[in-house]
Amino acid sequence: MLVSDNRYGKYTQIYLMLKTKKTPVKFTTPPVSHNSISRSEHIIISPIENFRPELLKLIVREVHRIFGYRTKIKPLLQDVDFAFDLDRQQHYSTIILERLASLAPTMAIKLLAITKVDLFIPILTHVYGEAQLGGRACIVSTHRLNEGLGTSVSEIFYQRVVKEAIHELGHTFNLRHCRDHTCNMHYCRSVKDVDLKSDQLCRYCLVLLNDAIKRPAKK
Ligand SMILES: [Zn+2]
Ligand SMILES: [Zn+2]
Repeated sequence: MLVSDNRYGKYTQIYLMLKTKKTPVKFTTPPVSHNSISRSEHIIISPIENFRPELLKLIVREVHRIFGYRTKIKPLLQDVDFAFDLDRQQHYSTIILERLASLAPTMAIKLLAITKVDLFIPILTHVYGEAQLGGRACIVSTHRLNEGLGTSVSEIFYQRVVKEAIHELGHTFNLRHCRDHTCNMHYCRSVKDVDLKSDQLCRYCLVLLNDAIKRPAKK
């Protein structure tokens, strides 16, 4: 099926076609222009606890599809005990980001940590993730992404994790929250919001991402 109202360009068109036919989705070219992407720079996916290999592979594939950089799995933090807040019984995500950024290998343009612990920042009860805006490090917590799904691993859970991973990495490329509730950069207060938004960037955010990638990376 061809999508006539195409907001995201031909790659999404192909994606929707494949999705409709329930064919395994394969991407050969991400939406971001490869010309401006250095081959030596990587996005590092850094799992903190043990995650299913198929989830990590999915994150790697989808991050590469959106951002265009070579993407690798490399654990950098043994645990996040140093960020545990006794009063709140949660982990303070900003502290984890600082530690993560300090451990960044030189070839890492961006680092995404994935954790199972519950994260917070002081002004909020919890966060699904946090990012250094325009910086290098971001983190996603799977702790609350299983809400309403029970304990079994489901495709919806995987989709939520991937969406949040793209979202937080988007912030590190200086993308802000988007008003379009279907755009991946839309701010989500609940898993319902996460389910409603897509794993794609809207046309506007995609332009901003391309601009951010064309600029020399901050070291
Ligand atoms: Zn956000
Ligand atoms: Zn957007």
